[in-house]
Amino acid sequence: MHANVLFPINSEAFTYTVPAELRSDIKIGSRVEVPFKRSYRTGIVVALDRNPEAASLKKGAGKLTKSITLKPVTSLLDEDIFLPNNILRLLNWVSQYYMSAAGLALKNAVPSAFFTGKKAGKPRIIYEEEEKKSEQLNLTDDQKNALIKINSDDKGVFLVHGVTGSGKTEIYMRAVKSLPVGKQAIVLVPEIAITAQMIDRFRAGFGTDVVFFHSGLSTGERITEWQRIRNGEVKVVIGVRSAVFAPFSNLGLIIVDEEQEASYKQFEGLRYSARDVALARAKLEKIKVILGSATPSLEAYHAAQNGKFHYIRIDKRIEKRPLPEVEIVDMTTELKDTFSLSAKLVDALRQNVKDHCQSLIMLNRRGYSPYFLCTDCGHTHKCPHCSITLIYHKDTNTLNCHYCGSWLDPEPLCTECGGKEIKYLGAGTQRVEEELNRLIPELSFKRMDRDTTQKKLSHHRIVRQMEDRKIDLLLGTQMVAKGHDFPDVTISAVISADTALNLPDFRSAERAFQLFTQLAGRAGRGDLPGRTYIQTYEPDHYVFDFVRNHDYTGFYEKEIGQRKELSYPPFSKLIRIIFGFRTKEKAKRITADISARVRRIKHKNIQILGPVPAPVEKIRNLWRWHLILKGRNAKALRRTAREIVHKLELMRDVKVDIDVDPINLL
Ligand code: ADP
Ligand code: ZN
Repeated sequence: MHANVLFPINSEAFTYTVPAELRSDIKIGSRVEVPFKRSYRTGIVVALDRNPEAASLKKGAGKLTKSITLKPVTSLLDEDIFLPNNILRLLNWVSQYYMSAAGLALKNAVPSAFFTGKKAGKPRIIYEEEEKKSEQLNLTDDQKNALIKINSDDKGVFLVHGVTGSGKTEIYMRAVKSLPVGKQAIVLVPEIAITAQMIDRFRAGFGTDVVFFHSGLSTGERITEWQRIRNGEVKVVIGVRSAVFAPFSNLGLIIVDEEQEASYKQFEGLRYSARDVALARAKLEKIKVILGSATPSLEAYHAAQNGKFHYIRIDKRIEKRPLPEVEIVDMTTELKDTFSLSAKLVDALRQNVKDHCQSLIMLNRRGYSPYFLCTDCGHTHKCPHCSITLIYHKDTNTLNCHYCGSWLDPEPLCTECGGKEIKYLGAGTQRVEEELNRLIPELSFKRMDRDTTQKKLSHHRIVRQMEDRKIDLLLGTQMVAKGHDFPDVTISAVISADTALNLPDFRSAERAFQLFTQLAGRAGRGDLPGRTYIQTYEPDHYVFDFVRNHDYTGFYEKEIGQRKELSYPPFSKLIRIIFGFRTKEKAKRITADISARVRRIKHKNIQILGPVPAPVEKIRNLWRWHLILKGRNAKALRRTAREIVHKLELMRDVKVDIDVDPINLL
């Protein structure tokens, strides 16, 4: 008898023999210890072959089977099956679809502690404060109708397209409540920064039946919570990305809040999209999915238009509250108090403090200044390891690379020409913080960006301060723009819209529209109407017309026309193959060779673009080139990608990385 054992590493399964005493107990999904190299390793049995004659196992037999003598499984680690079958099937789908080793999928799905022998621990209480009481809301007609539709089918995809403040969270909760007894639900949220309120509301509605699965859990907590989920002891899991792999075996519903968010896609290792894995899991388990958004991805809206998804639209906010007035502030002509703050915005913020209302300000760049510039020679500091300009951070007095995390000390003289006139140009959140302190001393506020939220659950603390009215204003990167429900916020503002508009990517207009609409959506959610200020040097950009009028459909129609013309998604699928090289010379030489080999591959209806240098040419000392495959048929596209990778298999000095459905091409 043979067992294929999968480890959480970048590899397929390895084959072992099963000794007689384990044969009756070993199952697919069992966790086992096996000899590996000169030591032992923990893995999961993914296939079993009960017929001793059969030479090899069908799926993922691994390279070891060929001729060497197989080693026996050492021991079984649990009495019961460790990983349910539905999860194994899902991992299989994921590794096929994303063209990645099954072991990597396992690594993303199961906490690593289960493979390293760590012990379970007792979960701590996250909140010191009292849990909020659940108030029984009377559903609006829009909410009722949405639920009738959602409850009319136990399969399929429901796109809930509801404007900001239309009460989508309540729809999610009732949809979970409507599940048959014993059915479980997964709620995916795009980033941990915006989970606080979702958790509170679900806790209020479901108590301890809710588990919050996040990166801040300790190893012990992670083990305990994962086991509770696997044993069916909880009903709801809320979490980011990897919660889509929650080991429920009686799942009834997956909810993906803000389905358009880029953070659902993982950028390294297994490059999966949690939204798309959710759709696949729902299909495999024959259950339903709710995709919720005020600004659906073009892909989702397109699918709804074509009848692939059920479509539920809510155009009104709760209590018919108006959407905020959006004002585009033309920074080329507007009076300014500082380089980054218009007098208009500063006055409005000042007035808001007087009126005891709250405000929210977004600048999508952390740090103090993005240009540390010598005014004599124009030299700026680049990261030595990446082709990226370093960002000056004032609190640490360092020049930081936001790609690789390395940093330099700033020099008093220009390192190029010895010039003395060094200027910090442009602004990040730290600089705006300083300016606000100076211009509006009476303002009490917090900065929320990746630098201030390093500590576990610090987002939650900041959000609580805003909720409890301990501060007047929240300043931060895009994590302040999304999801939050602060009823007293009447002003929301974008300091500089321009960076978002000008990314070299076919989705940049879509992302900008979504981000600004989300930000606008934070204002005027309570009794007082809201106002949104968008500062820009490009006030005539077409995106603003649609943002100003809250016109999703108009934006969609314009954008989808362009996508069609250029045959970008949703009219095609993309696979991006990224090559990494140690030196620029190698990159040039080897890509010429790659190019020659790839040119010989000809497939009908598949376009191969490149290889060309990636827009961000160097990251962490790797020189990056890429190749983009475009086609309508996902399977054919994968086949071509596989063929290309196969042709390059024996090439030296190149690292090959595959990104299926890339969401940016940087
Ligand atoms: P969305 O996610 O659509 O932006 P939320 O779910 O955050 O909106 O709801 C906005 C606000 O309206 C929340 O404060 C919520 O408690 C409140 N709300 C939701 N449904 C109702 C209802 N039926 N009656 C009164 N208030 C509601
Ligand atoms: Zn770097």
